[in-house]
Amino acid sequence: MEFNTLKAEDKSYIETIVSSERISTGESNLDLHSRDMSGHRASRPEVVVWPKQRAEVSRILAYADQRRIPVTAWGAGTSLVGNPIPLHGGIVLDFTQMDRMLEIRQDDFQVDVEPGVIYKDLNRKLRHTGLFFPPDPGADATIGGMIANNASGIRTVRYGSTKDNVLRLVMVLANGEVIEVGNRATKSSSGFDLLHLFVGSEGMLGIVVEATLRLVGLPAEIASAVATFQTVEEAGKAVFEIIRAGLDPAALELMAPECIGIINKQKNLGLPIAPTLFMEFHGPTKNQLTEVMGIAEGLCREHSCQEFRPGLEREERDLLLEARYALGDMIRQDKPDRFRISIDVAVPISAYPEMIAFAKEQAREAGAAAAYIFGHAGDGNIHLIIETEKGNRETGQRIKEVHRSVVQKALAGKGTATGEHGVGIGKAQFMEAEHGPSLEWMKKVKQLLDPHGILNPGKMFP
Ligand SMILES: Cc1cc2nc3c(=O)[nH]c(=O)nc-3n(C[C@H](O)[C@H](O)[C@H](O)COP(=O)(O)OP(=O)(O)OC[C@H]3O[C@@H](n4cnc5c(N)ncnc54)[C@H](O)[C@@H]3O)c2cc1C
Repeated sequence: MEFNTLKAEDKSYIETIVSSERISTGESNLDLHSRDMSGHRASRPEVVVWPKQRAEVSRILAYADQRRIPVTAWGAGTSLVGNPIPLHGGIVLDFTQMDRMLEIRQDDFQVDVEPGVIYKDLNRKLRHTGLFFPPDPGADATIGGMIANNASGIRTVRYGSTKDNVLRLVMVLANGEVIEVGNRATKSSSGFDLLHLFVGSEGMLGIVVEATLRLVGLPAEIASAVATFQTVEEAGKAVFEIIRAGLDPAALELMAPECIGIINKQKNLGLPIAPTLFMEFHGPTKNQLTEVMGIAEGLCREHSCQEFRPGLEREERDLLLEARYALGDMIRQDKPDRFRISIDVAVPISAYPEMIAFAKEQAREAGAAAAYIFGHAGDGNIHLIIETEKGNRETGQRIKEVHRSVVQKALAGKGTATGEHGVGIGKAQFMEAEHGPSLEWMKKVKQLLDPHGILNPGKMFP
């Protein structure tokens, strides 16, 4: 695709739509919107615009489409694979000022929000209603960015990912047209499911300007435990058994000993350095949860569980969860100068123990300086961060090979190259292998909705 660079007259036109204090070509703003939280190379936009109204988004897109200027939506820039980096320059639409919570409908368990709302703020605001929006990627992500990446998190094992918690979207298409997809009913058999076409489309098919989200009740009781094992594989087997037994965990997180080492070092938690499962259950009464916890302990003990510590108090649980959320960042901060690759595969739950063993062995054989295995184990999602010293090209090449072989193994087991971070730049290389001929149909959908390719160009397709 050929794109035009932004000219003075384009900027002047945008100034007729959005007031000048919400438009910037300043160096620092361009820099701030040139990189996300991944290590992918920065690429600056030519202008950053902060829309507040859907009509502004619509008019900017209609103009950009006509002038063939790229437009990339920006939430909080917390993506991990380069999703919002404006590879071809152009306009970045930053949604942080379009952040109104429009209507909470408590009796329907629903809320209407604008895309720039940060999900943590939403949950703080909802607290008094006894409801919450369950997808929780941990970082200060916006609802628009979560919808675009189909983000998930620690509680997805029970409550689903973003796609399971979005009912209706108002979208602005590449040509500026505004459409509404989905509805406020909790079920529907009506028409093609355009709603879920847009969820996970990484700002490449349209821009979210409003969303109706599904809410769930805050649990009456929470019980959590930490279990340590002899090997990561045994911990993986316990995960499989807990899911198979139908215990319905609200969190089931795996952390290899190297991860516990980092957590202890940076958060001073004094946890035993061993393969560890953190689990949480939600339920109506303490008695019910005591019974569930007893069964979970039995299943863990059958898999060489060394220590099972139930009954974590709220403070300890929050500290552990906070540390788990920040683990990726802590690993990066621990050795900032290293070259690292971050893997995010997901597999059917029965394949989980074998997948962990494979990833671990591959990292060992590659001679990586460090390898950290962790993940939302209850969803079959494995994160593996492998590092080498910068400048060690041979090992660098080998860990890229590990990335490929771990993804290939996941795909061979009918899993996916990315469980939650999305495709962006980092996973585009695997799209052909994962989707085969259906990738061509994805390209046709893109062509239909965005014929001039202005929306977040350069992503997803290899
Ligand atoms: C410490 C840390 C932990 C994380 N843990 C998790 C995790 O557990 N699970 C998980 O899923 N992710 C995780 N992430 C990744 C990240 O938080 C999510 O991918 C999140 O959804 C990104 O949201 P954002 O608002 O930052 O979006 P951005 O990064 O700004 O953008 C993401 C994508 O959405 C598009 N976009 C943004 N707004 C809109 C809009 N209004 N309309 C259309 N497209 C739009 C962008 O163009 C881009 O393609 C983590 C990140 C960090 C830094």
